[in-house]
Amino acid sequence: MNTDRKRCSKCGEEKALSEFYINTRLRDGYNGRCKTCCSAYGRAWHEANREKERARRKAWYEANREKVRAQAKAWGRANPEKKKAAARPWREANRERERSRGRAYYMANREKLRARNKAWREANPDKVRAWHEANREKVRAQVKARREANPDKERARWKAWYEANREKERARRKAWYEANREKECARNKAWREANREKVRAQVKARRDRKRDKVRAQARERYAVNRDAERLRHKRWQEANRDYTRDYTKQWRMRNRLIARVRRMWAKLEPRNDRSN
Ligand SMILES: [Zn+2]
Repeated sequence: MNTDRKRCSKCGEEKALSEFYINTRLRDGYNGRCKTCCSAYGRAWHEANREKERARRKAWYEANREKVRAQAKAWGRANPEKKKAAARPWREANRERERSRGRAYYMANREKLRARNKAWREANPDKVRAWHEANREKVRAQVKARREANPDKERARWKAWYEANREKERARRKAWYEANREKECARNKAWREANREKVRAQVKARRDRKRDKVRAQARERYAVNRDAERLRHKRWQEANRDYTRDYTKQWRMRNRLIARVRRMWAKLEPRNDRSN
């Protein structure tokens, strides 16, 4: 018999020694069964003892939980990149679950997390700015989506923020405008030219508003100071007597003419008489 080969005690096949596991307790230094038979046996044993094994492993884990966790944590801290890579397949397979878990965690710890995030942002303004610049499109899309989903809520939120930061925001806008004056002027002009009708309507609305306001103010002033206003008017009439006389004369002539026409009209056709 070839000394490089050996017959398996299970399947009876003669195989190379490399097909047998080393076992120093046996005389020839190798297991009696070949590797294939050994692993088949192991598999069969696991199949037969699956529940028992699981319970055993679980019991062991329960007994050593703290130790295992501490070890895993230490390993993760020592190998952050490896940890991330190892967790990735699981994370990808459980994306929805992870997301809802994350949301639940956020909701439960909202105040704490917000405060922590805020503190971090305040401590790292450069990083925040860099991130915003790198993700400009993403941020813009997010803001837009949020605004479209809850227009009223977003408007109220923005308004509250503006009320709280009015001076700061005004200064910021002014500075920005000063820095981008040329660009802004060109942009505004282009917009006005593209929206001519809208601009016209706006101007008209503004003028109407102003006129209404002026009229209301005059009326109010007159109501409050009726006598003084009458006096003022009388004085004005006296100072402009010629103009007033002409105006009054014309007004009377006009009224007389209208009355005459009406009378003639009523004579011609009695039912045209409006005085009844
Ligand atoms: Zn075998």
